[in-house]
Amino acid sequence: MRKTSPLSNRWVKCISTEGNIRGVAIQATGLVRDMAKVHGLKGQAARGLGESVMGALLVASYCKTGQRVNLNIQGSGYYSQALVDAYPDGHVRGYLIERTLSEPLDEKFGPWGTGLLSVLRTKADEGEKPYIGTVPLLTGHLAKDLSFYWVQSEQIPSAVGLVVNLEGDVVSSAGGFLIQALPGASPSEVRVIEQHIQEIESLADSLTKDASPIHLLSQIFQSTAFVIMEEKKLEFTCNCSWDRVQRALALVGASELKAMLFEDQSAIVRCDFCTKEYRLDKGMLEQMIQELSS
Ligand SMILES: [Zn+2]
Repeated sequence: MRKTSPLSNRWVKCISTEGNIRGVAIQATGLVRDMAKVHGLKGQAARGLGESVMGALLVASYCKTGQRVNLNIQGSGYYSQALVDAYPDGHVRGYLIERTLSEPLDEKFGPWGTGLLSVLRTKADEGEKPYIGTVPLLTGHLAKDLSFYWVQSEQIPSAVGLVVNLEGDVVSSAGGFLIQALPGASPSEVRVIEQHIQEIESLADSLTKDASPIHLLSQIFQSTAFVIMEEKKLEFTCNCSWDRVQRALALVGASELKAMLFEDQSAIVRCDFCTKEYRLDKGMLEQMIQELSS
């Protein structure tokens, strides 16, 4: 077993000392492994979930405290949908729905195939509008399509890398990065960084050997001096609760609840994000029906 430190799942943010290039690197091996296990996802499906989770965290890392990022990917490939909520405090939850293809995927596209990628950012303060940006999946590779999202939807030249390595069907390492050119970055500064990113095509290897986000950032920045801005622990948490379950059931309506009571004498509500099950017994259902009917 690999030894894991308490900060083992984390992102590290940095900025070049000139202030023109910023970056965030993620190490999320344990996090992705745990989430895949909870959802019963293995192999390629675990990889798809891991990429989505890290992608959403990369977006959240540059959001304001109090905001929530919702990454919604719909593809025609091996995954039909991934939905991930991520927060600037490093908390994340999400799920992925696999698809069984009747024919092999067109080799032109990555595992996601074609489809849509949406990023919703909720407001942090009163009066602020939620923001939603949607781009088509152009390549079917999440890292490339996320780079396109940043350029297209937020007008920030960006490079994204996402890697989930497998040992058999189990996640053996997971990590990624987002590098962005800020206004004022000179073409030559951008070129140098781009070149280094090209060179670390071996990101997968590098993650297997040394999964430190700081090491990854130093490989990307090399001779460009940078300062570390933030290091944050990442955690899989879900905010589902009895309260939310009851509110959701109230929306279903009294007549539907009566049908559940009649057929099963109970109702089970399962949270998609964390798979936790909430069981309402006969008494609870009767009480809810009474409250909704009065
Ligand atoms: Zn939940």
